[in-house]
Amino acid sequence: MSCVGAMSLRQGFAATQRAVGFPASSSPKAASALAASASSSLWGDGKWSGAARANFRGVCFARGRYGACRANSAREVSTGPSIVTQKQGAQEKGNKKKDEALQSELRLYNTMTRQKEIFRPIVPGKVSMYVCGVTSYDFSHIGHARVYVAFDVLYRYLKNLGYDVTYVRNFTDIDDKIINRAKETGEDPISLSARFCDEFHVDMAALRCLPPTLEPKVSGHIRQIVEMIKKIIENGHAYAIEGGDVYFSVESFPAYGQLSGRSQDENRAGERVTVDSRKRNAADFALWKSAKPGEISWQSPWGPGRPGWHIECSAMSAEHLGHSFDIHGGGLDLVFPHHENEIAQSCAACADSSIRYWIHNGFVTIDAEKMSKSLGNFFTIREVLEQFSPLALRWFLIGTQYRSPVNYSKRQLEVASDRIYYLYQTLADCMQLLSESSPDSQPASKEVTECVKGMKTAFFTAMSDDLLTPVAVAAFSEPLKLMNDLMHTKKGRKDKSRIASLRLMVNEFQSLLEVLGLSVSSYDEESCEEDPQYPQLDQQVLQDIKRLALKRAGLTEEDLMAQVQERAGARAAKDWERSDVIRQNLVALGINLMDGGDGTQWRPAAVGEDESVLVK
Ligand SMILES: [Zn+2]
Repeated sequence: MSCVGAMSLRQGFAATQRAVGFPASSSPKAASALAASASSSLWGDGKWSGAARANFRGVCFARGRYGACRANSAREVSTGPSIVTQKQGAQEKGNKKKDEALQSELRLYNTMTRQKEIFRPIVPGKVSMYVCGVTSYDFSHIGHARVYVAFDVLYRYLKNLGYDVTYVRNFTDIDDKIINRAKETGEDPISLSARFCDEFHVDMAALRCLPPTLEPKVSGHIRQIVEMIKKIIENGHAYAIEGGDVYFSVESFPAYGQLSGRSQDENRAGERVTVDSRKRNAADFALWKSAKPGEISWQSPWGPGRPGWHIECSAMSAEHLGHSFDIHGGGLDLVFPHHENEIAQSCAACADSSIRYWIHNGFVTIDAEKMSKSLGNFFTIREVLEQFSPLALRWFLIGTQYRSPVNYSKRQLEVASDRIYYLYQTLADCMQLLSESSPDSQPASKEVTECVKGMKTAFFTAMSDDLLTPVAVAAFSEPLKLMNDLMHTKKGRKDKSRIASLRLMVNEFQSLLEVLGLSVSSYDEESCEEDPQYPQLDQQVLQDIKRLALKRAGLTEEDLMAQVQERAGARAAKDWERSDVIRQNLVALGINLMDGGDGTQWRPAAVGEDESVLVK
């Protein structure tokens, strides 16, 4: 889905950034500084505990707010406090009111108006959203991960606010790149593309991106595309030339340039294609491309050929959402020419066409360069996931607001792994403790109730302010510290309302993490319907984060245990120097040791960061 002009990537990036009002000063450095500051305030003072010993037979991820388990489980309401109790009876009404109040506060940055606007859908209570999908001819890279995680967060948040959302994300399965790759591999282009659509789904599932409502493909919409081109020609905005190509006439559409803020002169200067003398204007773009010999093609009034790239999104969005809908999204690189061209086509075909909010996410950069295949500085999602947990990648991406550039580095992923391990381990310990404890007679303490209230207010305020996710996750800091204090300090253990307080916090965490797509609760699958258990954190997630930390350190579990034992021997012999050397060597590999009552345990950490604490 790259569409880059003849000017350099860096120039094009900066120009588009300025033109559409993106924070020009938000350099990758500034963006990561913001993320880092949010992170450091979040995680600086957390205490660690030993691994939870939860045991479960099955897993059902992300059931959350819409979960079958909870929704079906009437007994859960009577047998113990959990999120489901909030979803019952009279509370439904209260929730609806709350939804309306929260809905009225959501503000999103609209690239078209270059400002944050209160979000008001065309039909109250319903949202229609179209996001440009991938051109599927290869594995997706982390630039793709960023786009689809960003819009997954928006999708989840809109749903959380009570909207009924129709989310359409297309696949481009006909394109020069696909045709060229298919020639190389000797495959049929459509099946090559289908193969990579499947791979894309694997990546999206790993990153916990919810499936969109619809995923149309270009090859399934040729009829609609041809009809739309006919309409555009009829309305005097396009022309066919000898040989069977059809071009959109940019000059016939005076509003051209309204989204990107580019003038007609700039458009001509930025034209990448070698000027075709048969075009009326250098900036005119193809709606239909005549077939080259041996190439995949479809019949049309202009002869055999295939659609140009831009027309597909106009045709597919109109087919599934109508000519007017609420949100159109994609990466910042799509503002020009792709989305500019889409507006021109859609309006040329139907004068009433209108899209309320144009939403674009910032790039993933590497050393301030846009990550791109053509520059050779890109990583596929698969490559990243060989080293890091998909949840660490998701956390890393969410750690920066969607419009700011994200600067990718291994270090940032290590830090994200460390943070997410701390979060999940705290929740796992808490859930384990709750499953072993009988309810408190006292309600949650005032301190905890206030803290939870503060977390929710901060979280929703940040999310409603154009999805300010780094600030939203920073709101987890205090409650996590409180949870660890209640579980692991002497004072906390003596707290009479400890169990009720922990229960309240873990429930709230569950629902907020669900909004971010970071919920990893699991249930005993077999007894889920009959005898619902208190949710446990999916231990596989913690195990995966540890397994990958060992892999990055170049150690096996046995290697590590041998070193732990050697250190225990050194400590027994009071050889503190040797003991320290072993510990420091492991810190340098991203492994922290923690000495506690249960012996020495370990956890992953960012390489060189010594956060070892004594488990009390
Ligand atoms: Zn598109």
